Amino acid sequence: RIAYVNGRYLPREEAAVSIEDRGYQFADGVYEVCEVRGGRLVDERRHMARLDRSLSELRIARPMSAAALSLVMRETVRRNRVHDGIVYLQVTRGVAPRDFPFPPDGTRPSVVVTARSNDLSRLERVAEEGIAVVTAPDIRWQRVDIKSVALLPNVLAKQAARDQGAREAWLVDARGNVTEGASSNAWIVSRDGVLITRPLGRDILPGITRSVVLDLVKAQGLKFEERAFTVEEAYAAREAFVTSASQIVMPVVSIDGKPVGNGAPGLVATALRKDYHRYAEIV
Ligand code: PMP
Repeated sequence: RIAYVNGRYLPREEAAVSIEDRGYQFADGVYEVCEVRGGRLVDERRHMARLDRSLSELRIARPMSAAALSLVMRETVRRNRVHDGIVYLQVTRGVAPRDFPFPPDGTRPSVVVTARSNDLSRLERVAEEGIAVVTAPDIRWQRVDIKSVALLPNVLAKQAARDQGAREAWLVDARGNVTEGASSNAWIVSRDGVLITRPLGRDILPGITRSVVLDLVKAQGLKFEERAFTVEEAYAAREAFVTSASQIVMPVVSIDGKPVGNGAPGLVATALRKDYHRYAEIV
């Protein structure tokens, strides 16, 4: 496996960054995970737009032009012979002696790109079963709309989920509303068939898959509401699912050990997953 690091393609064992990289010392960096389908990047433009926004919110310089970055991502995919999978891109504020304020102007951001294959048929089998989620308090900072590599609360929530035999954690704010998953956006379908997901704001990541699914929902004229929902509403929902680039639309069949609906993947989630697959093949 080959990784791109600051201008070079290296075998993964040799790929490394400095111990004075601000990503390592301060989690001072951002990332993107983009789906690869048939060797092509899905929704690259939306991912690049989100990356640009994350960088500018943190005042990290753009490491290279969008065209150059795109080339690096495609080359990394090609060198790793990824047909279906993901490409991971990370940009940090660069290497400088450890000090909290920004390093001197001209410090070059660090760029790392990796790619790996995903077993699509295995993922489909998981989707046919659906996944369990558990809730956990959302203890993250107040700018989680920025896709930063500072993910310690997400790591802890995900491990708590795993410890309870679940695949994902749904994070819950002080009001008892679900914000999002530890690495996904959260959705429910109410008893009267309305799709509900939290509106964009500083308290959730603007998921690319979320935005695509919303487009599909609108195009089909399905009833939906972008609003916060409580854990109690989720327990009582007819369906639940999560969206992310690596899981696409993933049905949730239990929350905190309580079955959602009849405890099997819901019709709406299953249909949206199929729609998304069709969409990913043509973009
Ligand atoms: N929320 C969080 C906290 C995430 O980490 C992710 C995945 N990176 C998402 C939502 C889903 O975003 P996307 O659909 O762009 O993968």
